[in-house]
Amino acid sequence: MRQTRFVILGLVLALAVATGILIYQSRSSSNEADNGPVVVTQTKTRQPTDPASTPDTSGDPATSEPGTSGPASTDPATSDPATTDGSETSVVNPPDGRAPTNLPMKKLKKGQKPPQFIIFSFDGAGNSEKLNSFMDTAATTDSRFTGFLTGLYMLTDDKATDYTGPGRNPGESSVGFGGDATEVQQRVTDWNRMWAAGNEMGTHYNGHFCGGSGDAWTQADWTSELDQAFKFVDDYKALDDLPDAQTMKFTSADVKGGRTPCLEGVSDENFPNMAAVWKAHNMTYDTSKPAPYNGIFWPKMLDGIWEFYMPYVYSPSFKGMVTAMDYNFWVKFNGGAEEPDTAPQLRKIVQETYEYMYDQAYNGNRAPILIANHLNNWNGNSFNPAALAFMKETCGKKDTYCTTYQDVIAWMELQDPAVLKDLQDAYPVAEQAPTG
Ligand SMILES: [Zn+2]
Repeated sequence: MRQTRFVILGLVLALAVATGILIYQSRSSSNEADNGPVVVTQTKTRQPTDPASTPDTSGDPATSEPGTSGPASTDPATSDPATTDGSETSVVNPPDGRAPTNLPMKKLKKGQKPPQFIIFSFDGAGNSEKLNSFMDTAATTDSRFTGFLTGLYMLTDDKATDYTGPGRNPGESSVGFGGDATEVQQRVTDWNRMWAAGNEMGTHYNGHFCGGSGDAWTQADWTSELDQAFKFVDDYKALDDLPDAQTMKFTSADVKGGRTPCLEGVSDENFPNMAAVWKAHNMTYDTSKPAPYNGIFWPKMLDGIWEFYMPYVYSPSFKGMVTAMDYNFWVKFNGGAEEPDTAPQLRKIVQETYEYMYDQAYNGNRAPILIANHLNNWNGNSFNPAALAFMKETCGKKDTYCTTYQDVIAWMELQDPAVLKDLQDAYPVAEQAPTG
């Protein structure tokens, strides 16, 4: 009797501890990005079967598991390249003197290995010093990257009430506004330099409220948020009363994709609504959605939008799985605590994680590597130096192109559909700890 009671007590305690851990994990999993949160995703693990024997479930490629071609010899990504010479090219020098794409715009032959693409992106893109250091480094290897601009960074602080986030009061923002006129104009200088060098401008929307608000927004709310972000880019001189300031070299028409604050609003249920909003704004891609399964794989078309999923990868240096984004690395490392003394250690782990992702993709399915960063000084500036070091050591490597989302989309759309499908069906890499 007494023993039974102990057993029951033990079970209750074990349950309580397990529940506590779950609550803790879910608490620590929706957290800050820029200054605000990023959802730390818990994605499904693929079935640990021999990928070559996995049945092909690909009906809707966007929602099903990737298909059958794994690291078998039929995998176009890992088999011998037939020839390295494609023929067609669609590179046209832009009329405004902007640098053209750095990608070889060629059609692959069936079975030919694609180039390895790496897409660096920076949410917010408001820090002049850091932005310029990435521009300087990218220029040494003719590389490109993508800035996801926060629209509010074009609005001077004294014009804050010109912005009203859905369900918010005028002038409310979780990431502040553009500062004074000098700061805004410095940003235009930086962004024009970025644009001229062939880098891409996307959007990180505006108020960055997070905490689930973006998940609750309706289609009309997101439309309003995006309309305003576009307006701040297009009309900044009028809005800020700076008629003599320099003109931005790009407009909202050049914005084709983005990352939602805290990766909100892109649940399976809400995605079709978001897709409608993006299409209404002539946007073609998104890179906010947590991947539906582990590892690095090629982008998919989802409701008519190219989705570059935020990958959930294995990292030997973290000794586990992690969503490959700076804030999520931080949470994985120490729960997101500010411990600047540990910066050298964390930088090393992050850089090694990027290197591992690259090695796995380069020697595997060649899926684009996403390096998703903010320009913050989190944990004693743990992240930007790691991304910069990775950019320096990797972007000039053989068959490797550091580039933009739009250029990768142009490359994918140039391919024969069957060739592209083979790439998309290839088994993910870095999807679990190596076995054997
Ligand atoms: Zn953010």
